[in-house]
Amino acid sequence: MPAIRDFPMIINGQAVPAEDGAWLESEFPFTREVWCRVPRGGAADATRAVKAAHNAFHDSAWSGLTPTARGKLLFRLADLMEERAQELAELEVWDNGKRITEKAGQLRRIPDWYRYFGGLADKVQGHVLPNENQAVLNITQRVPLGVIVAITPWNSPLLLAAYKLAPALAAGNTIVLKPSEFTSASSLAFGALFKEAGFPDGVVNVVSGMGNEIGEALVSNPRVAKVSFTGGEAGGRAVYKLAAQHFHDVALELGGKSPNIVFPDANLDSAANGVMAGIFAATGQTCIAGSRLLVHEEVHNHVVDSVIARASGVRMGDPLDPKTQMAPVATEAQHAKILDCIEMAKAEGATCVLGGRAGQGPACGNGLFIEPTIFTGVTNDMRIAREEVFGPVLSVIKFRDEAEAIAIANDTDYGLAAGLWTKDLQRAVRVSGQLQAGSVWVNMYRAISYTSPFGGFKQSGIGRENGMEAIGEYLQTRSVWFNTADHVPNPFELK
Ligand code: NAD
Repeated sequence: MPAIRDFPMIINGQAVPAEDGAWLESEFPFTREVWCRVPRGGAADATRAVKAAHNAFHDSAWSGLTPTARGKLLFRLADLMEERAQELAELEVWDNGKRITEKAGQLRRIPDWYRYFGGLADKVQGHVLPNENQAVLNITQRVPLGVIVAITPWNSPLLLAAYKLAPALAAGNTIVLKPSEFTSASSLAFGALFKEAGFPDGVVNVVSGMGNEIGEALVSNPRVAKVSFTGGEAGGRAVYKLAAQHFHDVALELGGKSPNIVFPDANLDSAANGVMAGIFAATGQTCIAGSRLLVHEEVHNHVVDSVIARASGVRMGDPLDPKTQMAPVATEAQHAKILDCIEMAKAEGATCVLGGRAGQGPACGNGLFIEPTIFTGVTNDMRIAREEVFGPVLSVIKFRDEAEAIAIANDTDYGLAAGLWTKDLQRAVRVSGQLQAGSVWVNMYRAISYTSPFGGFKQSGIGRENGMEAIGEYLQTRSVWFNTADHVPNPFELK
């Protein structure tokens, strides 16, 4: 275990502690030892970060840049991130205990988010509008909103920050980023790169602390234009309410209970791999986890057996070891919650056919492990089929025909993602068009790209991230009217 490191906040280009000097400790979920400290920011820190972002938004050092120049800054940032990818990936592993192979792979891809939106910075265009008066020229301009508060959860701090920061900066906004209190190190280290990339001070501020302390203070600040939040239902609800008091624009990326549907004509081997990718990769700690496996009765036993065979061989262990396949979960609270959900499923009458316990054994050390867990005999009205677990727990639900599969898939408050497995092209088109989910994958699962819109139907969220339209979420339209006639008539004279 290395010596305990301190990561300061970045406010107005300066590395600073919390104003009252308070700190939060972060544990490595594999050994449960403290490995770093981050400032426990409070209301005063929220005020100075928003003030810095507000001043930077109005300062010509940022607002006077051409869109092309803004894009170039994002390209430089991407290059710096690429150089530090391994180091940033390791910080995330220490903080949230995810596998180094997953984190390093993510960090290698994140710079492309900044390049993609950097390239879009100078492609934002307004319109010339038709007008009944030929002497009038009416145009629209697409202009930035102002200060954006970006709030992220613990599962993928820098990836989820990129979904927000890359389009928001390309559009010309300024930022206060607040990562999860459990996983702030990578975002704080990343915050230091903006100065190096040449961004003016205050354009990107990164603060740390508790959601109900600095988080609420940020959302309540009247100088904020928009809050972009990724996290759970309770936090999302609190943020939405607080933001309403100031009419802040809001984007919410919340949880899911996504169906992964296997039809009997599917390539069942691939489908089993897709099920594994959906629920056991990332230890189920992903908003798009395919936590409900809907499987046709004809192939139910075959698919369940083949997922059990794969899952029972999964290697749990040190997340820093590239050979580890399933890592610990991130926090003690989350570990306890997953075990509670498992007990709840048992009490509801679901059959636990694999796992169901905390992970043990020499490879697990003192880590917060949960065995890959599979429940069969689940019905869609059970709480295990309705509530997000955010852990490696799969609920298997049997269906008889296509209509029933669609009905079960859509019978949920959520609507983040869905997968379906079939070789029948007509069925693929028909079913994908009826699934109430923001992302639908056919014969694949868990794909995400900066090029493709991402977000939730129903209670999975409001707004879209990624893809060309995402930049529009950080712009507003100004309609400008020019009178080109020499004379403006007296309004009291009849025409
Ligand atoms: P969380 O809601 O507890 O915390 C998320 C962030 O919100 C943290 O930074 C936290 O400090 C902050 N926060 C919490 N309460 C707040 C408040 N009242 N005011 C301001 N900020 C507040 O979520 P979590 O446990 O860190 O993450 C897991 C959840 O995130 C799961 O529900 C998962 O599905 C969801 N998630 C969604 C997406 C998506 O893109 N839809 C992606 C990843 C995770």
